[in-house]
Amino acid sequence: MIDSHCHIDLLDNAQEVIDEARKKGMAGIIISAADPNELGNAMSLANANKDFVYVCAGFHPHHVNDYDEEEVEEYIEQINGVKYEIAAIGEIGLDYSGVNDEETKQRQKAIFAKFLKFAIEIQKPVVVHIRDAFDDALEILSNYKPRHVMLHCFSGSEMQLKISLERGYFISFATNVCYTKKHPRLAVQTPLKNMLLETDSPWLEPNEKLRKNSDGDNIKTLTNRPWNIEQSAEIIAGLKKMLAKDVIGATTDNAKRCFGI
Ligand SMILES: [Zn+2]
Repeated sequence: MIDSHCHIDLLDNAQEVIDEARKKGMAGIIISAADPNELGNAMSLANANKDFVYVCAGFHPHHVNDYDEEEVEEYIEQINGVKYEIAAIGEIGLDYSGVNDEETKQRQKAIFAKFLKFAIEIQKPVVVHIRDAFDDALEILSNYKPRHVMLHCFSGSEMQLKISLERGYFISFATNVCYTKKHPRLAVQTPLKNMLLETDSPWLEPNEKLRKNSDGDNIKTLTNRPWNIEQSAEIIAGLKKMLAKDVIGATTDNAKRCFGI
């Protein structure tokens, strides 16, 4: 079982979570460093947990206005310095939620393209974050051929799923597949050979008791953990009428292939 995308580096007890994941028999955890400030800590966790914790080094589109041109270049240099130690470039991508100005969208597109070029240069797969920007993101991606493309926490339409599958992308389902209507429908249409599982933890808690307040509303918690992908595997297996262990087996193999681990 490999959690293909999480942010447990943000937890104070990250090492404890990693130890627990090992105890539960997981085969690996991929941590996404989504901001230049996060890379150092994520790398330390990977170095302290060799062959179990891996790092994707990226730049979340929501951060594009927090750094100037020069700082982005410096960050790319920094990643270049650890290119043999990282598993992928990402998360990178486009996120138009809450973005109303054209200038920010253009900057997101430019930085996305810059990191795609860089990933190809250093021969790494890319982990892509897309929210409310699917058509633009698919168009930019069509110009680049990185080693592999993983669409993280997939939330596109059925048509966008079809296009992504035709291009051979890996489609990663997060633990929200356990409690939404949309994601299970998309998972059913995704062949196992293209599928990855992730938690995006500590967010997207699948357990209802932990996710809902006393009024029954979903609340944001930091309680999700990498091994909860087992619950996603059970849901998807039920829908696809197969065994959860086969979903886990296939998605683990896919993660190894995608990240070259
Ligand atoms: Zn993420």
